Amino acid sequence: MDSIISVKKIRKVYRMGEEKIVALNQIDLEIPPEEICCLLGPSGSGKSTLLNMIAGLEKPTKGSIIIKGKHIEKMNEAQLAKFRQKYIGFIFQSYNLIPSLTALENVCLPLIFQGVPKKKREKLAKEMLEAVGLGSRLKHKPNEMSGGQQQRVSIARAFVNRPTIIFADEPTGNLDTHTTIEILELMTRLAKEHKQTMVIVSHDLEVSDYADRLIHMKDGEIISIENKSNERKDLIYEKN
Ligand code: ADP
Ligand code: MG
Repeated sequence: MDSIISVKKIRKVYRMGEEKIVALNQIDLEIPPEEICCLLGPSGSGKSTLLNMIAGLEKPTKGSIIIKGKHIEKMNEAQLAKFRQKYIGFIFQSYNLIPSLTALENVCLPLIFQGVPKKKREKLAKEMLEAVGLGSRLKHKPNEMSGGQQQRVSIARAFVNRPTIIFADEPTGNLDTHTTIEILELMTRLAKEHKQTMVIVSHDLEVSDYADRLIHMKDGEIISIENKSNERKDLIYEKN
């Protein structure tokens, strides 16, 4: 099957005065539809930079990023904004919820941008919050919820308009181990149920149990790729 995300010879250089920082060097990566893949590596290895490029939040210095057949590095800001609204959901380490809005209102936001009428968006947002186990917290504001609950709201917000691809940058970075596992299980289950592609950045090894493929990064390069789904198939094969 054709890749849904195709990264070709990406290079990203940041300039800090006189200094040049090569954040990404010659990255090639193909991600098939419906895959859950995880970018792993030490702090500073370029995970967030790569994720931001693929999500169209930052432009590469060189190379191309093709999503659903479109060269996103060639789009202008307005085109990118539209593209993200339509196809992309994002989950952040620090949740990025709007503090003055309730859980329901936060989850409604992407639907407002898409012009969904009020009744319909409240219905969809409520269903999505129920799906993440927060049916009894619709009217709560972010500061009235735990970290795990806030991340569930942000997951509901990312999934509510059924984007084709979900990106998550250290989604469990602020959570304890027990909550980390709950959140990873929830995110990956929703993505599989709705046949969405998901790219998760992490330096937590727990995530490897939930990913189809692990992309290991170091110093701005991909150093190895582990295929988890094949491993599982191999195991089943060996047992028979
Ligand atoms: P990771 O997410 O794996 O921790 P990053 O992608 O954030 O790593 O960073 C990769 C490298 O690029 C680091 O050396 C970091 O300091 C540098 N970097 C990231 N963003 C910027 C920026 N906006 N300006 C300058 N350097 C940056
Ligand atoms: Mg990072």
